[in-house]
Amino acid sequence: MAPFYVTTPIYYVNAAPHLGHAYTTIAADVMARHHRQRGDDVFFLTGTDEHGEPVSLAAEAAGVTPRELADKNAERFKALAPVLNATNDFFIRTSDPEHGRAVQEVLTRVKDNGYVELGIYQGWYCPRCADFKSEQEIVDGNHCPIHLIELDWEQEENYFFKLSKLQDRLEQLYAERPDFVTPSSRYNEALSFIKGGLQDVSLTRGKLTWGVPVPWDEKHVFYVWFDALLNYYTALTYARPGEDLRDEFWPATYHLIAKDILKFHCVFWPALLMAADLPLPEHVFVHGYLLLEGHKMSKSLGNVLDPFEVIDIYGADALRFYLLRDVSFGQDGSVSTADFEQRYESELANDFGNLASRSIKMILRYRDGVVPQVDVDPAIAADFDGLAERVSELVGRAELTPALEEIWQRVRRLNRYVDEQAPWKLAKDDERAADLDRALATLAEGLRVLTVLLHAWIPERAGILLAALGAGADLADDAPALAIGGARLGAAVPARASDLDPLFPKQQPPKAA
Ligand SMILES: [Zn+2]
Repeated sequence: MAPFYVTTPIYYVNAAPHLGHAYTTIAADVMARHHRQRGDDVFFLTGTDEHGEPVSLAAEAAGVTPRELADKNAERFKALAPVLNATNDFFIRTSDPEHGRAVQEVLTRVKDNGYVELGIYQGWYCPRCADFKSEQEIVDGNHCPIHLIELDWEQEENYFFKLSKLQDRLEQLYAERPDFVTPSSRYNEALSFIKGGLQDVSLTRGKLTWGVPVPWDEKHVFYVWFDALLNYYTALTYARPGEDLRDEFWPATYHLIAKDILKFHCVFWPALLMAADLPLPEHVFVHGYLLLEGHKMSKSLGNVLDPFEVIDIYGADALRFYLLRDVSFGQDGSVSTADFEQRYESELANDFGNLASRSIKMILRYRDGVVPQVDVDPAIAADFDGLAERVSELVGRAELTPALEEIWQRVRRLNRYVDEQAPWKLAKDDERAADLDRALATLAEGLRVLTVLLHAWIPERAGILLAALGAGADLADDAPALAIGGARLGAAVPARASDLDPLFPKQQPPKAA
């Protein structure tokens, strides 16, 4: 089995989970589920980033210890994955002692390899980003470009990571691996940052205590970003007690991130791994922002659309589908309740849900629920030819929106097929019984294939539909296989269809707030 290791960023524990977090987790889950269907050995990691100044400041304000606050807030993120129906294999917390020990080990190696040096840092610092900002980045004199808050001028003794020494090797990496960062616009952005000339960066903080202690100088803790980035590697050392998963799953196949943390993942992260003599991840995929009224959704800007609320009414499948359908994964795009309701109604309820209901009803009415065991219509077979391969290829490159579009073209094709064939007319004419058999078998088989392919996006309803199609227990499993005919159109399988409640029932939308 081929290993496939996908990660989300670990989410900063000081905020409440919002749609932006849900977005990356859903995308990673679609990839994880699809690769399981392919028969790959999958490891899917998410978790929380818990150290640093914002947490210790918030804890102080609340009169609790940073650990108490982190424990409380981590639970909210842990609760997000099951609500989204995400199948992460492990949930890492950077306050885990095993993580801390592994961070110390790797960063000691970075120092031993000659990439650490003591120096003085001064500059504009955003406590919310936990990052110093360059003069080019700051806006309105001394404000954070992301949080729009006033920055602090800070000066302190730090150990520095000698990023500048890795300039050539990073340029070489980008020259050799044009798919290291995708989409290509993000590759260009990262490369131009590198070509702009790399400065050494703070590896430690002297003023903080809420962090992983620097083993060679206990007055310092590691800068939260280096501690956080290493989660992708350290998790494999202890996610399964008694097992070292690094042999199988390192380097990671895909890190999924949002564009605001590109510099850390596309520049600092490979540099850190080079300095530690560790293999680099295969791909970093950078997605865009979900915009509400033209702004990035974030708590500090106060424009949060609550994923829990949407899921409460429509279910996780609907949100999973909408976010990867409406906004091309990789680009910025606007989302809204009105768009969501429109997609839900026209595509999930009508295109797909109705197709399923009508097809099953006709099989029940005209053939007593028994799917006719005849060859499918060659015209439809031709339209489905190569579909599974094409979808696999696209999902394999994190191109989740084009993959969904490939599938949806066939959903529309089957809808047209129903109209072309008009089985209700064929049913009135005994001499056309063979045509009716072929039409019903084609609908059952076409639906089955589409449902297997859609499983990664809408796992819950896909399972229900496969069961109603009588598609066999093996296919209604958590991960119906793509191989061995699972996602290829063939002769209709012997099956008995059963009643199906509407897959995506019409809902009363929530009242506008
Ligand atoms: Zn900031």
